[in-house]
Amino acid sequence: MSRIQSPKGTYDILPLNLIENKWQSTQAWQAIEEILHKCSSQWGFQNLRLPLFESTDLFHKSTGDSSDIVQKEMYTFKDKGNRSLTLRPEGTPGTLRALIDAQAFAHNQIQKLYYLGPMFRYERPQQGRYRQFHQFGAEMLGPRVACFDADVICLGWQILQALGLNQCILKINTLANEISRKLYKQKLKEFLEDYRLQLSEDSQRRLELNPLRILDSKEASDQELLKKAPTIEHFIDNESKEFFAKVLTLLQGAAIPYHLEPKLVRGLDYYCDTVFEFQLPVHGSHATIGGGGRYGQLLASMGGPALEGVGFAFGMERLLQGALTYGNLALANPTCDVLLISLGATCFERCFTLTQNLRKDGLYAELWPFDDPKKLKNGLSYADKIRSRFVAILGEDELITGKIQLRCMDSRKQSLVLIDQLKTFIKN
Ligand code: AMP
Repeated sequence: MSRIQSPKGTYDILPLNLIENKWQSTQAWQAIEEILHKCSSQWGFQNLRLPLFESTDLFHKSTGDSSDIVQKEMYTFKDKGNRSLTLRPEGTPGTLRALIDAQAFAHNQIQKLYYLGPMFRYERPQQGRYRQFHQFGAEMLGPRVACFDADVICLGWQILQALGLNQCILKINTLANEISRKLYKQKLKEFLEDYRLQLSEDSQRRLELNPLRILDSKEASDQELLKKAPTIEHFIDNESKEFFAKVLTLLQGAAIPYHLEPKLVRGLDYYCDTVFEFQLPVHGSHATIGGGGRYGQLLASMGGPALEGVGFAFGMERLLQGALTYGNLALANPTCDVLLISLGATCFERCFTLTQNLRKDGLYAELWPFDDPKKLKNGLSYADKIRSRFVAILGEDELITGKIQLRCMDSRKQSLVLIDQLKTFIKN
């Protein structure tokens, strides 16, 4: 029978001993999740968990019709009730929808939330790019204040430091307010119109939809043309300029180094003002570990109050791969405290009860599932496999005397101990 393969662009997360790539191990995911939860709560962000699918309209109205995500990457389907649903390609729209639904802003005008979980985009799979991938995202909503932008960036930076990724680079830019951006878009379009036929196919399409996105193009020929293109710096209004200057001053105060990148735009339609990316100094599409920015009008446009938001998302696969290759994320292989082996059917039930009791006492105890004394050797090699520190062997004779053989797997030394004292021996 032919084997059914996993869908293209997906991968499995399995225990460390079952998987070749460490970043795909459960241990790696648990280790990084612990760091993400810890840093987020230090920054006062609360965790939310949202549906993996949402109404398709949500993404059209927020992520934006001119974004690549909405144009060509969404997993959209009709359910049996003929509703159009989409597997979430990013976390910000769902977060805002949930906050509006919960009337969160009536309770508090400042909301700080974070999420971890799978996202879905129909992209061409390659290193660091999958069709089901995971994001950690943090969103901060409230009044328009520059300290929120600096604060979320500090959270992202701290996560990178906690993973030992101190070679990461923070690239930052401002897209200013809507009026300035519109003016700049117009000038950029006028400039690029003259080179329309020299632009890549994707960029020609973007020229109509959203010329700003051409700045994002990875095509070498596009990049060459862009060298002479106008940059946004010259079109920024005073308020946006001051706002951005404040963000930068706060980052300096927090000793966070940044690189000004006047051509950084990010891929989503809702960004304005501050935009930023965290990058590893390597080549390839996996270099950008995460990014985000301010979304000024998004909440109000979705039916929420007139407040703004700023947030970012890390691709967890890239974060993990980076942390294991260049950082200091250490993975612990679980070790078992004791494996109980019974030599004979009468001792087996006692061993089973003993195992449960040791677990209740907080130990990691395992039970060898056979009672045949001839299989003792197999039991001992199983103990090595599960990296057990001790093996406790119960025989018929020992059962009568209330004692058990305790073998230390490191020293291979064995001694007879009272069953009642087994826990104390192992703990010490
Ligand atoms: P975005 O939501 O597009 O701003 O992306 C934020 C981060 O998510 C990126 O910097 C990547 O690390 C990660 N990411 C986005 N798309 C993918 C993908 N298809 N596969 C893996 N990671 C992704």
